[in-house]
Amino acid sequence: MEKFLKEIDGETWLVEDERDNMKLYYRIKEVISSKESPFQKINIIDSHDFGRCLVLDGVVQTTELDGYIYNEMIAHIPVVTHENPKNVLVIGGGDCGVVNELIKYKNIKTIDMVEIDRDVVEECIKHIPAVSGGSSKDGRINFLFEDGIQFVKGKDKYYDIAIVDSSDPIGPAEALFSENFYVSLKNSLKDDGIMVCQSQSPIFHKEVLKKTRSILKKHFPIVRTYKTVVPSYPGGMWSFTLASFKYDPLKADIAKLVKNTNYINNDIFNSCFSLPNFMKDSLELE
Ligand code: SAM
Repeated sequence: MEKFLKEIDGETWLVEDERDNMKLYYRIKEVISSKESPFQKINIIDSHDFGRCLVLDGVVQTTELDGYIYNEMIAHIPVVTHENPKNVLVIGGGDCGVVNELIKYKNIKTIDMVEIDRDVVEECIKHIPAVSGGSSKDGRINFLFEDGIQFVKGKDKYYDIAIVDSSDPIGPAEALFSENFYVSLKNSLKDDGIMVCQSQSPIFHKEVLKKTRSILKKHFPIVRTYKTVVPSYPGGMWSFTLASFKYDPLKADIAKLVKNTNYINNDIFNSCFSLPNFMKDSLELE
């Protein structure tokens, strides 16, 4: 049995070893599948409260209970902010939850999803349809199984939107938080392009958020941090950083937001950029 699965009083628990002084325990009904890819250990588990979950190297990535919150927030905000996005890039995103949100917009013509690990995509399409949805059947999505870092290096002013849906900054995703990568990503965008990335917990990973924002500030005129709450992510509160050459989400035409969502609506769109004092202080915002 993997070291993050533990038997306690006859029950199986997934123990997420997030930090030295805190662990998250999920009571499990069943381990649905277990795979070792060249990049990571992939488990699909069925848990009592969170339903089916994608777990990479013992870390929960998405769950049936709350995966839509993260996926809607990282996908809809840039799409609605951009005037008319046609070509979208997703880096990572193996659970397919993000592309499943993007296909709700008819004006998007192509979605290149560049995921390093084919096995993650196959496992999620097979075992967690509540998250991956019908995305694999939408002809606008090109699944490209490559390293996102190398992929963006060859792209020049092609995408309207780039979404970095990465795992935590360790292992294959570490370089997805580096300045070199953000510069390549910037070059892959058209002159009015927008990029967005998940920038970790504003409480537990303050330094990641701060660094991400300060790097993007050097390269883009408009940078906005926004937040949401994802119960299965350590600390609950989660941050995203959007960087844009021209369009400001604070001036977006939110009437374009689709209605078939579970979390995001006009009120959430407007309020997610309002940050609590501890975040403003740490990011040195007014
Ligand atoms: N929403 C999730 C979260 O914040 O925890 C992450 C979603 S998704 C599962 C992250 C994906 O990024 C993984 O499937 C992983 O294989 C992929 N990934 C990691 N490094 C990558 C790289 N260098 N290029 C492309 N994909 C990468």
